[in-house]
Amino acid sequence: METILVTGGAGFIGSHLCEKLLEQGNHVICVDNFFTGSMKNIEHLRDNKDFEVIRHDIVEPILLETDKIYNLACPASPIHYQFNAIKTVKTNVIGITNMLDLASETKARVLQASTSEVYGDPLIHPQKEEYWGNVNTIGLRSCYDEGKRVAETLMMNYHRQHNVDIRIIRIFNTYGPRMAENDGRVVSNFIIQALKNQDITIYGDGSQTRSFCYVDDLVRGMITLMNKDGFMGPVNVGNDGEYTILELAKMIIELTNSKSKIVFKPLPSDDPCKRRPDLTLARKELNYEPTIHVRDGLARTIEYFKTVV
Ligand code: NAD
Ligand code: UDP
Repeated sequence: METILVTGGAGFIGSHLCEKLLEQGNHVICVDNFFTGSMKNIEHLRDNKDFEVIRHDIVEPILLETDKIYNLACPASPIHYQFNAIKTVKTNVIGITNMLDLASETKARVLQASTSEVYGDPLIHPQKEEYWGNVNTIGLRSCYDEGKRVAETLMMNYHRQHNVDIRIIRIFNTYGPRMAENDGRVVSNFIIQALKNQDITIYGDGSQTRSFCYVDDLVRGMITLMNKDGFMGPVNVGNDGEYTILELAKMIIELTNSKSKIVFKPLPSDDPCKRRPDLTLARKELNYEPTIHVRDGLARTIEYFKTVV
């Protein structure tokens, strides 16, 4: 049995990861400051004797015995990561430094939840890992995307200087049950609006694209990367189906039988025009294949939100 630390374990992806790691027979320590995560997300795991929860902010150091560290702590939706942008930078930079120091001390392997945002508003399409990105250093998104870029830099430098065993996963837009209701991300917003028959708010003209990955596929890719020897990434993981935001809105209206109308609102600054992962490396190194089509994943997510809304 391994002891595995999951920072951000009470968040959307983190709660699914904790659940899967417990199912696989590990002892899981969830560390979270509950900024965007909630106790409700992990309520169903609390009776498991192999599950521990610690309220802690990763900007402060922590010392724990652990074999593996999944570093997911960081608000992921633009409204939340921009709420306190300075704190977001600290979480990304000081937070990962604390985790890398812990990994150094305990000889744990550490996986960083990086993001497609490291490619910024990409000038090549689809995005391959070799692409260095197109990021505005002073824009509203920079606290998140530059923070995540420095986190990758720190990962590589701890690996080179201190021989820390690292894994870097670049996560593309992921959705599913337990996304926060007030998250502001497109999938949760559109589903909630559709279920309430409220206007569906498209930012811009809806021609921007994203590729949506169901959380189970993402978590499987993440665990495979963590457990594989001899490959540290960075590697893209997501789903390579690409949809415009307008197509997504229409799909959700259809799947919910909603009476909602589509309305158009201003596009936030630095909103990427297109995004789709090139999954060649993940297929080769991780034998990874997304298995859940967006319509099926949305249907499952809609069932979840029906219980919440
Ligand atoms: P989330 O906001 O639901 O989860 C983040 C969790 O981290 C929350 O539980 C929050 O309370 C916790 N947290 C935030 N700051 C913290 C701090 N300083 N100390 C301790 N805990 C802290 O977001 P998510 O969608 O589950 O994302 C998880 C990770 O995956 C994030 O690192 C995010 O950047 C990355 N990611 C997510 C997506 C996506 O589409 N969901 C895409 C790319 C990358
Ligand atoms: N978006 C939208 N309406 C919403 C929320 C988001 O049109 O209610 C758009 C947003 O401008 C972006 C896309 O949907 O172009 C994805 O947004 P999200 O915040 O989910 O993820 P990210 O922009 O970080 O990929």
